[in-house]
Amino acid sequence: MNKAVWQKELQGFVKTSVLINEPMKKHTTWNIGGPADFMVFPSSEEELIGILQFLHSEDSIPFVMGNGSNILVGDKGIRGVVIRLAGAFSKRTWRGNEVDAQAGALLPSLALEAAERSLTGMEFAAGIPGSFGGAIRMNAGAYGNTIGEYVTKVGLTEYSGTKRELTVDELTFEYRKSNLFSADGIVTSVTLKFLEGDREQSMAKIKELLQLRIRKQPLEFPSCGSVFRNPVNDHAGRLIEMANLRGTQIGGAMVSRKHGNFIINLGGAKAKDVLNLIEAVQRRVEDSYGVHLETEVKLVGEFER
Ligand SMILES: Cc1cc2nc3c(=O)[nH]c(=O)nc-3n(C[C@H](O)[C@H](O)[C@H](O)COP(=O)(O)OP(=O)(O)OC[C@H]3O[C@@H](n4cnc5c(N)ncnc54)[C@H](O)[C@@H]3O)c2cc1C
Repeated sequence: MNKAVWQKELQGFVKTSVLINEPMKKHTTWNIGGPADFMVFPSSEEELIGILQFLHSEDSIPFVMGNGSNILVGDKGIRGVVIRLAGAFSKRTWRGNEVDAQAGALLPSLALEAAERSLTGMEFAAGIPGSFGGAIRMNAGAYGNTIGEYVTKVGLTEYSGTKRELTVDELTFEYRKSNLFSADGIVTSVTLKFLEGDREQSMAKIKELLQLRIRKQPLEFPSCGSVFRNPVNDHAGRLIEMANLRGTQIGGAMVSRKHGNFIINLGGAKAKDVLNLIEAVQRRVEDSYGVHLETEVKLVGEFER
């Protein structure tokens, strides 16, 4: 790959600048991650399809991301192209109690918009700092609700550039997982349907859930939320806390003293610090309780030890 040639080719498809050797720590909520060879911010499906068709002709599969709130990017960064669906790819169109949202739309904004329209269902998502693309793929959830419950349709663009629409019968959602993980493409839009509710009640619920997060989660530090998936009928945080791991630190990464399932960046943490800490937590919990904690966060790119 000739970087200058690729940059010129990619620039032909998008209005915004194509970034080269872009530090991923600028694009993740953990503030961690080495350089991406290329980073592009398409603002329309046409721009996205152009990029995908070019990459397909070069036999290259991009890494797609939304708000970077559930990924740990290695210190050596990401080879090839990162497509970030954000700001300009976040339009929504409301029709009664339904909304078509582009994949880059953020959950908190939509939760507030739904409440403003006296629609109920999305309140749980007001404190989840993810995009719809990431949330649908992860089936994000909290306080007994998941995003999958409200989805009626998903727009997908395959890596070849072909557009598809998936109806609710073709979608399966499980705990922090959907069949979109194996889908050969990028989520571009999501249609959601809510129930009629009461504006004041929804706003009050949003306020209550946000306050609960402030009380329980170390929101004053960069993190990716819960690092580990909850084992069946248990909580990863509970096991980590029982194993006396709160406050355990490697380099700039520390198991939060406030919430056992959060690893926080105290400042200047490297991906290798977090990865070593993840493994140390897994070992201790497995030795103490015979439970293997699987990560919820996705590991992306090249790591060093
Ligand atoms: C403080 C904090 C609190 C959190 N609380 C919660 C919570 O309560 N519940 C919860 O479920 N999560 C929570 N999270 C985690 C995270 O916000 C969610 O998982 C969110 O849905 C991830 O969205 P994202 O846009 O940031 O995804 P990213 O981190 O950008 O990507 C995550 C994965 O989705 C894929 N992806 C992203 N966009 C697309 C797309 N358009 N098409 C296909 N694949 C895509 C990526 O390739 C990657 O594999 C929290 C995180 C933080 C920092």
